[in-house]
Amino acid sequence: MNKPQSWEARADEFSMYGFTDLPSVKARGTVVVTHGEGPYVHDVNGKRYLDANSGLWNMIAGFDHAGLAQAAKAQYDRFPGYHAFFGRMSDQTVMLSEKLIEVSPFDRGKVFYTNSGSEANDTMVKMLWFLHGSEGNPKRRKILTRLNAYHGVTAVSASMTGKPYNEVFGLPMEGFIHLTCPHHWRFGQDGESEEQFTQRLAAELEETILREGADTIAGFFAEPVMGAGGVIPPSKGYFQAVQSILKKHGIPLISDEVICGFGRTGNTWGCETYGFVPDAIISSKNLTAGLFPMGAVILGPDLADRLQAAAEKIEEFPHGFTASGHPVGCAIALKAIDVVMNEGLAENVRRLAPRMEAGLRAIMERSEHIGELRGIGFMWALEAVKDKATKTPFDANLSVSERIANSCTDLGLICRPLGQSIVLCPPFILTEEQMDEMFDKLERALTKVFAEVA
Ligand SMILES: *Cc1c(COP(=O)(O)O)cnc(C)c1O
Repeated sequence: MNKPQSWEARADEFSMYGFTDLPSVKARGTVVVTHGEGPYVHDVNGKRYLDANSGLWNMIAGFDHAGLAQAAKAQYDRFPGYHAFFGRMSDQTVMLSEKLIEVSPFDRGKVFYTNSGSEANDTMVKMLWFLHGSEGNPKRRKILTRLNAYHGVTAVSASMTGKPYNEVFGLPMEGFIHLTCPHHWRFGQDGESEEQFTQRLAAELEETILREGADTIAGFFAEPVMGAGGVIPPSKGYFQAVQSILKKHGIPLISDEVICGFGRTGNTWGCETYGFVPDAIISSKNLTAGLFPMGAVILGPDLADRLQAAAEKIEEFPHGFTASGHPVGCAIALKAIDVVMNEGLAENVRRLAPRMEAGLRAIMERSEHIGELRGIGFMWALEAVKDKATKTPFDANLSVSERIANSCTDLGLICRPLGQSIVLCPPFILTEEQMDEMFDKLERALTKVFAEVA
């Protein structure tokens, strides 16, 4: 085999990119990353970047946390792998489930493990189909989500995702219904207050339920703050309005906390931040602080009891992944929860979130082309607009957000373009000094790109 010389060319030749802008890679080459410390990563050329996206939202304790690596090593030495089928499971799995229920908003419940967030959502849908069928409601199969939601990439979770790019796969599948995105700044009508907007969305939900028939709907899934949709916090009162309608029609509310979970919004769960208790929680990404591929479905008491009854009826729940509840993943997750809650990480997010908001707001106010700052805790987005007053976006062909992200990369700052927005979701360990570095590099990139395109 003839290997090309550079790391970049070798990556290009043999690796298939996912969710990657191919013209950008062609023009700029791949960044091949070797290691990191704290919130920084290094590439093969010795360049250092402040990763203001925590990898992919998940490296919340940074890239070299000794305690997490130690927990992984210790478990690999003790018992390096096992499954959770046939009435067997590792001691680490038992302990993690206990811990997850303890830190959940539920006073009791049950946990089921997957290898990713997509699989956790997929599993939750199968659980709902299974229990509704078992309870004599086999028609209760439709899934409600929102436009711009991101729930993953498996055929089911991609169908739940409310993004146009899934059309290339012929998705969504039938029976996946996408409601309006609760983003008042962008989707509110002229003169419509945020409260009125929320009421309109609640009415839309109720009309949809009545039109489709409540007895055909399996569940409603929502991220407390939409992440990959561009960091979109819900409009005022949204979850209270939605939950009362869902309750009336007996439709479970599932909180997809893959991003919000474990402190990203300033509380352990996003549902806490927005004052609601869901019927189940989907967790992944932060669950192992990015050190192990793992997802979890955390069922509250009602769904746990009903699913248990359905399983007992046929003597099993016929579902599971080979690596579900992997002991190394569970050991890491146990340590990660401890690190976030007891080593000051969650506390750091709460302490520095107002500083992050203030710094980004100042950047917005100095810029003629940032139309909105939105977010909470340690997840924020700045949306670029051609015209602030009319919220008119830049021409999509200008790829403004990609250019900003590329300029940041040149300056040694990793951030992510999402639509016309730039997303910043740093690791929970970020210091004030590192935050200032992020502000400084971001503003230099914005100034440069806006001068080019405006
Ligand atoms: C990332 C994400 C998922 C999918 O998780 P994967 O581990 O990539 O499959 C699901 N839901 C939300 C909210 C996410 O951010």
